[in-house]
Amino acid sequence: MADPTALNARLRKLPSVDELLGDAQVQALLARHPRPVVVRAARAAVDQARRRLLGGETEASVGAEQVARAVAEALRPGLARVINATGVILHTNLGRAPLAAPAAARMAEVAQGAVDLEYDLGLGARGARGAAAMELLAELCGAESALAVNNNAAAVLLALSVLARGREVIVSRGELVEIGGGFRIPEVLAQSGARLVEVGTTNKTRAADYAAAIGPETASLLKVHQSNFRMVGFTEEATLGELAELARPRGLPLLFDLGSGCMVEPLAAELPPEPTPARALRAGADLVCMSGDKLFGGPQAGLVVGSKALVERLARHPLMRALRVDKTTLAALEATLALYRDGREGEIPAIRMLRESVASVLVRAQRLAERLAAAGVAGEVVATSSQVGAGSIPGASLASAAVALSGDPEALAARLRQGDPPAVARIHEGRLLLDVRTVPDSEIEPLARAVSVAFNSGGSEVSC
Ligand SMILES: *Cc1c(COP(=O)(O)O)cnc(C)c1O
Repeated sequence: MADPTALNARLRKLPSVDELLGDAQVQALLARHPRPVVVRAARAAVDQARRRLLGGETEASVGAEQVARAVAEALRPGLARVINATGVILHTNLGRAPLAAPAAARMAEVAQGAVDLEYDLGLGARGARGAAAMELLAELCGAESALAVNNNAAAVLLALSVLARGREVIVSRGELVEIGGGFRIPEVLAQSGARLVEVGTTNKTRAADYAAAIGPETASLLKVHQSNFRMVGFTEEATLGELAELARPRGLPLLFDLGSGCMVEPLAAELPPEPTPARALRAGADLVCMSGDKLFGGPQAGLVVGSKALVERLARHPLMRALRVDKTTLAALEATLALYRDGREGEIPAIRMLRESVASVLVRAQRLAERLAAAGVAGEVVATSSQVGAGSIPGASLASAAVALSGDPEALAARLRQGDPPAVARIHEGRLLLDVRTVPDSEIEPLARAVSVAFNSGGSEVSC
C-alpha cells in the first residue's frame, strides 16, 4: 500500500477543472470548440489523473495537452473505420461485407445531391422507387420482380405479414432456427401475425409431413436455408422441388428464406456449393428472401425476388413504408448488381477474399511480417484458417496465412483495438494472429504502423 500522506498530497496538487479552464492554451481550445466539449474534456483529464494516482502511480500530469487530447477523442467519429484482421470475412460486428469501390463511389455520389429516386425523368412525374436497381436484381435472379427492404429480417417479416397474417405457415422443426442477433424464425412468425405449424422432427422432415399439415387455414409453406449451422448424420429434409409440388396445385405460395444471398456458382473452389436465388426460383420457390450484406457482398438490405403478383402485394403493404431503403442503399445495390451483370464479381471484396488463393494471402502475410520486422516487431508467418462468417456456410474454412505476434495476446489485442486505426485480431492457442485474408493490400501499411505502436507502448506486458 502506498504512503497515504504522500498520495493525499499528490491528489491535492491536481488542478481543479476551473483552474484548467483558465490556462491560456485551454482558452485557445475554448475559442475553437464548443464549451461543453472542452469542459467535459477537462473534467475527464482530471479524473483520469486522479484514477492513476489512486492506482499507485506517482506521476500524473494534467494540463492543456491532456485536455487537447481528450477534446480530440471526444470529437472523433464514434463509428470508426477498423482493420479486420480476424480472418472472418463477413464479420457481423464489423459491418459484414465491405462494399466494392464502384458501389461506395455511387453511394457517395447520390448522397450529396438530389436524385431521381421516385421520379420518372422521361415523364416528369412520380416513378417507382429505385426501379432500375430492382429490374436488374430481378433479371440477374431470373425473377419476374424484385424488392429491397432494410434487411433480411425485415424481408421475412414483410413476406409473412402479407402472405399469412391471421393464418398458418408450415415450417420444418429442423428449420426453426435462430440466425444470430436474436432473429428467431418462430418469433418473426409471431410478429407477422401468422401462426406457426411445426412439422417433422429436428433431424428429419419429409414432404409427407408438410402434406399432412396442410389444411383450410394454411396460407404458405416456409423453407429456411440452414445458413448458420450444419446437421450431419441421420438427417432428411424436403427439397424445394418437393415442396413446390405440394404448394402449386393448392395455390399456396412457397417462401424460401435463403439467408446469405450467394449470386454466383461456384462461389469459390474451396467452398461447398451454396444455393443461389436463381436456382431456388427454378426449383419452385415463389418468393426468395436474402441479405444484401452477406455473400451478396453489397450494402445492408433485405432482397426479395419472385413472382410479380406476390412482390407487388409486398410493395403495397403498409409495412413497406417502414422498411424501405434509402437512396444510398439503392445506389450501392445497383452498382454491386452491375458488377455481377458484367462478370466482374471478383471486384466485390467479400468474393475476392473468398476466392483468393492461399499462396496470394501468404505473400501479403510475408509483406506484413517484413514491415513489422523493420519496425522492430518480431512476427512469425503461420498457416491458419479463415471463416466465412455472418452465419454463412457454417463449418467451411479457408486455408489462410497470418502473422503471429509474441507476448501477452489479450493485452496486445486490447491495445490494437485502441489504436489508430483500430485493428481487431484473433487469439489462437495463446498467440495473437493477424489473419491477412481479410486485410486488403491497402491496409497492410496502416496495420504494420498500428501494430508497431501497440507493441512498443506495451511496457512490461509484452515481451519483444
Ligand atoms: C442472416 C439471415 C437472416 C437475417 O438477415 P439480416 O440481413 O441480418 O436481417 C435471416 N434468415 C437467414 C436464413 C439468415 O441467414
